Amino acid sequence: MKWVDFHCHVDLYDDPRSILASCAQSGVAVFAVSTIPAAADRLKSLVSASGAVVHIGVGLHPEVAHKHQKSLELLLNEVRAYRFVGEVGLDGSPQYREYQATQRRVLEGVFSACEKEGGKILSLHSRRAVRPVLDMLAQHPDAGIPVLHWFSGSPHELAEASMSGCWFSVGLGMLQTATGREVVASMPRNRVLTETDGPFAQAGGKSLTPLDIERSVGALAKVWNVPPELAREMVWSNYEALIAKS
Ligand SMILES: [Zn+2]
Repeated sequence: MKWVDFHCHVDLYDDPRSILASCAQSGVAVFAVSTIPAAADRLKSLVSASGAVVHIGVGLHPEVAHKHQKSLELLLNEVRAYRFVGEVGLDGSPQYREYQATQRRVLEGVFSACEKEGGKILSLHSRRAVRPVLDMLAQHPDAGIPVLHWFSGSPHELAEASMSGCWFSVGLGMLQTATGREVVASMPRNRVLTETDGPFAQAGGKSLTPLDIERSVGALAKVWNVPPELAREMVWSNYEALIAKS
């Protein structure tokens, strides 16, 4: 393996099997996040025969948490069986603001369950909600290793997240804007991973797949001002260090 896509919704592609086969072929290790807990089980059956290196996360996406409240119990049960947890988090966008209480209840439950088990790695969503996500993490310091995906907080919040031991996964969406690149440039380089967030994230009107991860690495290399091959190696060794940690 050579490349890391640390946040991808593999099960949501039209043909996840062929995506996984090409990941195995091209050496892309994937953190396959799920939007609802049942997706994690579906991923299991897809992954087992693929030969790809896939870390399956069990999660409940904050954008749909209010529609799947009945899944909370299942989620909290499943968290025990998975070392990787995600996608979970909070979303403070106007259209989800009325569901804040539900989102918080889910995340609170997940953090508490993770604390009990120990050794978790979490992919966290924090769009327009970096402040409350950091506050909740501070209340659950033993929830595991938080990886903030598509981080969009202020420089101050970034400093705070870095100080508290957060990791970051960055994709083209961040790396294509000047503000995003500024944020990425200030992240501790030894805690940065690459992601696509496909198929939700797109480039040129097309959904990104893990095979596009080279583009994230290339854009990251520019921010770091290093050759792409070196950026790839740095991300890969970060990934290995993270996996060895928990
Ligand atoms: Zn996502």
